[in-house]
Amino acid sequence: MSLQEISARITKAETASGRDVGAVKLIAVSKVQPNERVAEVLALGHRCFGENRVQEAVGKWPEFKLQYPDVDLHLIGPLQTNKARQALDLFSTIHSVDRPKLANTLARLAQEVGTCPDLFIQVNTGEEDQKAGILPTEADAFIADCRGLDLPIQGLMCIPPVEEEPSLHFALLAKIAERNGLKGLSMGMSSDFEQAIALGATHVRVGSAIFGERVKPEG
Ligand SMILES: *Cc1c(COP(=O)(O)O)cnc(C)c1O
Repeated sequence: MSLQEISARITKAETASGRDVGAVKLIAVSKVQPNERVAEVLALGHRCFGENRVQEAVGKWPEFKLQYPDVDLHLIGPLQTNKARQALDLFSTIHSVDRPKLANTLARLAQEVGTCPDLFIQVNTGEEDQKAGILPTEADAFIADCRGLDLPIQGLMCIPPVEEEPSLHFALLAKIAERNGLKGLSMGMSSDFEQAIALGATHVRVGSAIFGERVKPEG
């Protein structure tokens, strides 16, 4: 386990690309990790975590939050509309707004509740059939629609195809964000977060490099 090492590498990458130290938020991705490992990272003082399933997060985090009320939880995986209300209650930030139906549901719930998490729109930069996200050619219109719904869109998120050079995808995401006046860029994982920082990432999502390999396969 090497939270300190990852933090040091982030600082180095920030400096190397002329960014302010602390400009990049480290989301420690704790999905399918045993609670002992999560507890270790909490004990080191880290508070920002990412989960990719609402159900799993609901089963694990309320208890940790009793001990660490300042935990900052980010949803980085797909969100079904029937779990949107639960997600709104638990997460400070949702990185996976990926379709009009979800945007409409979040807008309605935000009206009801009076608050809304920070939102990132997921862009399917690799145009992969199996991956969620708005297609790059449809991103501008979807961003405009979300703004029309008064949703607090902070930025964009992508997960590059495994076999491709991630920098191309990070650069594309940054370009779409810039032309839409969005500052947030959620990009970069264990294997490529330094490249993502060089291309402007504001949020990196790092799991296995902090916690070790995930113990069970993702279902
Ligand atoms: C699991 C996951 C990560 C973290 O992946 P690592 O390779 O373990 O760092 C980042 N982003 C998303 C969306 C994920 O599902």
